[in-house]
Amino acid sequence: MTVEFLCPHCRAENKAESLPAESFVCKQCRQPVPLFLPEASARAQQVERCLVCGNEGFYLQKDFNPRLGILIFAIGVIFSYHTKFLSLVIATLIDFILYYVLATVTICYQCRAIYRDFKENPQHRGFDHLTALKYSKTAT
Ligand SMILES: [Zn+2]
Ligand SMILES: [Zn+2]
Repeated sequence: MTVEFLCPHCRAENKAESLPAESFVCKQCRQPVPLFLPEASARAQQVERCLVCGNEGFYLQKDFNPRLGILIFAIGVIFSYHTKFLSLVIATLIDFILYYVLATVTICYQCRAIYRDFKENPQHRGFDHLTALKYSKTAT
């Protein structure tokens, strides 16, 4: 289980490879960032409370670069005239397959920490703009 997050002290990008990591130190400012994972969460491999900011709102997202999806689709569009739209079908298929093959990541609404290799928490849903708005108001 890993978590990618911005250091609460200096906003540098950090990645903790093995959780729980109670004595994690920011790679840039060298300040300690406690990433305490409750035992129940560690056992269930589910995140309920953000290790970085303590927030309890998360959303699920496919671990997929949206720009890559657009790129594949754009290539399909470019060649669609010559391939009688077959390339468009193939591009759509590739995007579709990628989407289902890729793992889901859990992201904290408040600090945008990315949790990988966790099990999906059934309480978490896909990204919701209204919820995100609520957090953007309280975010510092
Ligand atoms: Zn730092
Ligand atoms: Zn957070």
